[in-house]
Amino acid sequence: MRHLLYLPTITMGLVLSIASPNSGIADTAFLEKAVRDKVSSIEGRLIAWRRDIHQHPELGDQETRTSGLVADHLRSLGLEVRTGVARTGVFAVLKGAKPGPTVALRADMDALPVKEPKGLPFASQAKAQYLGKEVDVMHACGHDTHTAILMAVAEVLTSLKDQLPGTVQFIFQPAEEGSSLYPPGSGQISGAELMVKEGIFAKIKPDAVFGLHVLPGKSGEIAYRPGAILASSDGFEIKVTGKQGHGGMPWQTIDPITTSAQIVNGLQTIVSRKVDLTASPAVVTIGTINGGTRANIVPETVEMTGTIRTYDEGIRTQVHDDIATVAGKIAESAGAKAEVSISHGYDTTVNNEELTGRMLPVLERAADGRIRRSLPVGASEDFSVFAQEAPGLFVFLGITPEGQDPTKAAPNHSPNFFVDEGALVVGARTMASLAVNYLATPSGK
Ligand SMILES: [Zn+2]
Ligand SMILES: [Zn+2]
Repeated sequence: MRHLLYLPTITMGLVLSIASPNSGIADTAFLEKAVRDKVSSIEGRLIAWRRDIHQHPELGDQETRTSGLVADHLRSLGLEVRTGVARTGVFAVLKGAKPGPTVALRADMDALPVKEPKGLPFASQAKAQYLGKEVDVMHACGHDTHTAILMAVAEVLTSLKDQLPGTVQFIFQPAEEGSSLYPPGSGQISGAELMVKEGIFAKIKPDAVFGLHVLPGKSGEIAYRPGAILASSDGFEIKVTGKQGHGGMPWQTIDPITTSAQIVNGLQTIVSRKVDLTASPAVVTIGTINGGTRANIVPETVEMTGTIRTYDEGIRTQVHDDIATVAGKIAESAGAKAEVSISHGYDTTVNNEELTGRMLPVLERAADGRIRRSLPVGASEDFSVFAQEAPGLFVFLGITPEGQDPTKAAPNHSPNFFVDEGALVVGARTMASLAVNYLATPSGK
């Protein structure tokens, strides 16, 4: 599979470089070599930035220290820098000396309300307000590494400015994990959606957008997937209303507890019986169920909440409709009432297939051949917003230290999530190589 994709790209590059001796493969090889050397030369600083950011994590929409570090660094490189984008985000532009297309590179900066265990010399002891409550804060999703990697990439690409054909946009986004100031349902948007709404692409829309995420996997291995790579994530609430009464005389009541139990079972048949799982996977999970106060009282209401994950818009709509139908009809059959509300979260993150194919050889070289095709991942990402603005490619960087089994490593969001810092240079090389390649190789069209 890899070779099938590799061959046409090379052939195309050769044809183009014959047609135009100053572009194509020659530039690309030069720039990739320069990227490799320069990334290696700043590895120490890349790791130092990461440790500093790791030790001072900040929650979504409160990333003031982190974005200050980022903005100072980008200004010191002489880039055009815009701060306060989507509250605490940073957007910067590097104009290459030669004409060419525009690529956007994205990193997210926010941490999570997770308590980091002691151990690392740069472990976090930070606390912050999360939706009005004091919490411990940790970079348990690795966004500290994404930020440090993109700071390094900005420096590397700036040093190649004179040879760079085109423009690079650097997106340091806040609140990928959601806002810590505004709860869901408050009507406030944040993160990627707010950055786009505030017009980061108003002047120049990028021709491609790239992003990466650290994930358990062999350290330094890049995992890619054409098409849907991360799920859409929607929340739902079901309120079942019956008729309260004595638990010893249930015939005088309408029991929302037994009704809810039937609804929970009924919901299981949506994915197992109604979704075409050969086309695309789906998940429906009930995460909370609350009702009742006492053993001998049939309560009036039961409330449930859950999450829906899909990788296809048609299936997403179908699952939404089925949840409403299943809950409504089962409640009706018991004489109860079910009110269903579904809130749209992040969309599916879809990698542009042509772009993925075109960039596959670049990934392979940047990771020294250590690439693998990923399965779809059940988490979701607001990188999906950027990937709807321009053809997108989002890849995973393995960060499990050698000698450990990645399948047994603590996942993202766990307090034990651990990053092998040796992988970070591969991340920086990958992002910088994707950018220079896209700019230097005339479009694969
Ligand atoms: Zn996360
Ligand atoms: Zn994340």
